[in-house]
Amino acid sequence: MTQIRLHDTYAREKRDFAPADPERVTMYVCGPTVYNRAHIGNARPAVVFDVLARLLRHSYGEGRVVYARNVTDVDDKIIDAARAEGVEPAVVTRRYEGFYLADMGALGVRAPDLAPKATETVAEMIAMIARLVETGHAYEADGHVLFHVPSDPDYGALGRRDRETMIAGARVEIASYKKDPADFVLWKPSPPDMIGWDSPWGRGRPGWHIECSAMIEKHLGCTIDIHGGGLDLIFPHHENEIAQSRCAHDGAPLARYWVHNGFLSMAGSEKMSKSLGNVVTVGELLARGHKGETLRLALLSAHYRQPLEWSDALIAQSKATLDRLYRIAGEAGAGEADPGVLEAVADDLNTPLALSRLSAIDDAATLKASAALLGLLAEDPSRWFQGEGDSRIDALVAARTEAKKARDFAEADRIRAELAEEGILLEDGPQGTTWRRA
Ligand code: AMP
Ligand code: ZN
Repeated sequence: MTQIRLHDTYAREKRDFAPADPERVTMYVCGPTVYNRAHIGNARPAVVFDVLARLLRHSYGEGRVVYARNVTDVDDKIIDAARAEGVEPAVVTRRYEGFYLADMGALGVRAPDLAPKATETVAEMIAMIARLVETGHAYEADGHVLFHVPSDPDYGALGRRDRETMIAGARVEIASYKKDPADFVLWKPSPPDMIGWDSPWGRGRPGWHIECSAMIEKHLGCTIDIHGGGLDLIFPHHENEIAQSRCAHDGAPLARYWVHNGFLSMAGSEKMSKSLGNVVTVGELLARGHKGETLRLALLSAHYRQPLEWSDALIAQSKATLDRLYRIAGEAGAGEADPGVLEAVADDLNTPLALSRLSAIDDAATLKASAALLGLLAEDPSRWFQGEGDSRIDALVAARTEAKKARDFAEADRIRAELAEEGILLEDGPQGTTWRRA
């Protein structure tokens, strides 16, 4: 079997991957907070960990991998969004969970084996918080329950930040009821008109971090093989998950390997994020006519730990690559994956290398089986190319109209000539430009 190697954030190096139990390989990835449409940066972890799940299934067997990705469906941003619409939070979360699954599905992301919801795990969260209170790792103050960070001497080992940086970086509220400024919320009170659950500390709702610890314990066990998410989750979210779980489980570690993806940014700016306003959603990209698989290839074009610059050129290049691969693969039957492609994916998901090796394969069946490791060439080639010519022509006609508007007549004439060479004739009329085949 090809040895899988993964960069482990905890160890800060690439390590040979060996699951605790090869019959049941466990992976957990922090999933979406469902109150808005996912942007293409949010899709990066979904696609990256989908590739890792495919690799694990390929190596250990379909039925031997349990991949869980949670759905955060109780959160202050959800409560605010629901209030703004005048509906129950569940209306908002159901809608955006649906969008999320559809958007990720369009990118070829297989549904994880488990998709636990926070609102369905509250009893387990309360039980875990109670255990932390009993063992002196958490305390009640002013209707809140807080994790007491100084009670865990190993706190901060994942990101290896010093205490001052952590307090400054966490933007943790400095609240008078906190024993220590680094302490974080496990449970907070809910007024009667807000979503909430009864608990030993009164009616309230969970803080964000505790849901992942409780879900992992409930569905996967005390210690899992792989825990994943975006780089921004290392601190405070994963640091807090580690502390909660380890302290609730007599020191058993939460995960044996920690895998984090880097950020996607818009060309020329920082990380894509809603607060910076430089966001393009998966839904918008699909509505512009880009195929999900094109976006998937674009996301896999850079190594997952490297930054990825999103641009129209990247999308166009990915589309051209797929057109070429689909032409070679044709209607190929079943084949075996190329060992070089498998090796590249197994080496810490080196997708750029895997893609370049894919491009060198000339046997159709081998190409198709190898591409499947990355979740590519999933469509029937006739479907891939169907209607495709027309949308390209439409796009060129639209580009020519834009060029004319911008008084760039040279470009407009160039496009007309390019299409004429393919036998496409343009007719400018009062309603705009139409085209027909000569
Ligand atoms: P959020 O909805 O902000 O909690 O993000 C959901 C997931 O997307 C997390 O794993 C984040 O780390 C990840 N993420 C958010 N923004 C980006 C980005 N620009 N690039 C890559 N991953 C991101
Ligand atoms: Zn989490």
